Amino acid sequence: MSRQVTAEFLLSAFGKDEFPRPEQPEFAFLGRSNVGKSTLLNTLVGQRLAFVSSTPGRTQSINFYRVDRQWVFVDLPGYGYARVSKSAREAWRGVIEAYLLDRSTLALAFLLVDARRGWMDQDVQLKQWLEHYGCPYLVVATKTDKLNQKERSLSQRAFREHYSGEIVWFSARTGQGVKEIWQTIWKTKTS
Ligand code: GDP
Repeated sequence: MSRQVTAEFLLSAFGKDEFPRPEQPEFAFLGRSNVGKSTLLNTLVGQRLAFVSSTPGRTQSINFYRVDRQWVFVDLPGYGYARVSKSAREAWRGVIEAYLLDRSTLALAFLLVDARRGWMDQDVQLKQWLEHYGCPYLVVATKTDKLNQKERSLSQRAFREHYSGEIVWFSARTGQGVKEIWQTIWKTKTS
């Protein structure tokens, strides 16, 4: 896609009182650290966007970006670092729950899962949590270029074990899925 996308960093927030005023439809991006979330965001907007460093174990911010003057992309901190303390994990939970639970402008959350690894415990927990609280979400399987044909069909089958809804298969390398994600954003915004 050669469409020019404009993107502007709005702010980083550590809690609810720092969130921007809820005005435009928001699309949130969630996933384990290293799932390819920054790369996906950068690919969608065609520029380096997610520049805030993600040091393992540190309480991370929620980063808001205004895209094409009409949407807000919300980069939620990654989870799943092997060596974080219980308090860091709870801080993570507090930050993302503060956002997801009570954000009137949240249009859709993209739940990113590494296509090679498939569902991991925390992905499944988060998915169940989104369902429990009625947050609309779409699953994106990332880094599909790393799979060969056979692995791809095994991965597709494994994804179905925990989820029967729509999955977007995404690769920043090949561009697979970029169009579908943009179409979803357009469709969600106008529906
Ligand atoms: P984040 O921690 O979720 O933001 O993950 P990053 O976007 O930083 O990506 C983690 C690593 O995976 C980096 O080395 C990326 O280059 C790599 N990566 C991300 N997306 C893809 C992809 O679609 N294909 C391949 N082959 N590598 C990817």
